[in-house]
Amino acid sequence: MQLILRNIMEEYVIITLDEMLGFLDGCKCERCRLDIASYTLNRLKPKYVATTQGELMSRLCEFDGQFKASIMAEITQAHAIISKHPRH
Ligand SMILES: [Zn+2]
Repeated sequence: MQLILRNIMEEYVIITLDEMLGFLDGCKCERCRLDIASYTLNRLKPKYVATTQGELMSRLCEFDGQFKASIMAEITQAHAIISKHPRH
């Protein structure tokens, strides 16, 4: 069984960001999307897990309330800053 080391917070942020980009204004190009993701991730505590690919998938399916509120708050801030100063 192949174990992988992942910062699961990274997956959570990308999932939440993609949901939020659906209703947020501003540029949604790959550069801005990833700038928002990295800004957000630098401000959140990482959450590393040693897991298998399959286990990771089921953890992602269960992802819901636990971190979501704080992730959404950080994304909202990151989005405000990056859409004001896009790097392009
Ligand atoms: Zn952009």
